[in-house]
Amino acid sequence: MIAPFDLSGKTALVTGANTGIGQAIAVALSQAGADLAVVGRSAPTETLALIEANGRKAVNISADLSSIAPVARVVEEANSALGRIDILVNNAGIIRRNDAVDFTEEDWDAVIDTNLKTLFFLSQAVAKDMIARGSGKIINIASMLTFQGGIRVPSYTASKSGVGGLTKAMANEWAAKGINVNAIAPGYIETNNTAALQADGNRNRQIVDRIPAGRWGKAEDIGGAAVFLASSAADYVNGHILAVDGGWLAR
Ligand code: NAP
Repeated sequence: MIAPFDLSGKTALVTGANTGIGQAIAVALSQAGADLAVVGRSAPTETLALIEANGRKAVNISADLSSIAPVARVVEEANSALGRIDILVNNAGIIRRNDAVDFTEEDWDAVIDTNLKTLFFLSQAVAKDMIARGSGKIINIASMLTFQGGIRVPSYTASKSGVGGLTKAMANEWAAKGINVNAIAPGYIETNNTAALQADGNRNRQIVDRIPAGRWGKAEDIGGAAVFLASSAADYVNGHILAVDGGWLAR
């Protein structure tokens, strides 16, 4: 292994990469040498520019991932722009907050559909080509709520606990076919997703006090873990959920 984290000549598809963790992962993968397809419903103008500034190819595929309707088209467009998908990062996700006793079916379905159902069927579509080639990397974005219950976010907890289970289920079926399926579980990261928590003085203080590293994570803190799991350095890592959490789970 001369450069075990080198992704030169590789192609990656990242969902929800216009901002936050998805943007940081896309940029980190491009720094490691990969060409990128970024998939989402908002224009990823800044992300495309950052990837191109690293000298890599960046294509935008516009799709609303709240249903699986666009999945086949997304894979077709990525294949025709990049030739194939070596690395899939299932990052797009939403959160809805309400007391469990008042939680609506709409808030349940919206979160489960985006965070769990689309993640599975996009993985399935991409895995078909990866199995035919005998190689590929799938990285799912899990959460601390893959391990814990959370407060006032029941559908999010169900979806991210499901992501942990699915990561292992897909790894079990596809590891022998050359596909590494793993997940990253970010801790508390400063993005739009956590804006409500960051703005809530009490909760914010409780959260920081409980993090051994003593600070919120930044989206860029997740990039290196994604490069590792996307690279040949992780060829014997299967079904793992890698916490990048400043020590939150160790507490
Ligand atoms: P974010 O800034 O809100 O980013 C979420 C991304 O998902 C955005 O690009 C968003 O696009 C996209 N997305 C949401 N619904 C979509 C849809 N229907 N179709 C296409 N794209 C959609 O939040 P983030 O914190 O970076 O979240 C990224 C992932 O990390 C999520 O899976 C989240 O659950 C997970 N996570 C975050 C934290 C944290 O502390 N921030 C912790 C653990 C896990 P739009 O901009 O168009 O909405």
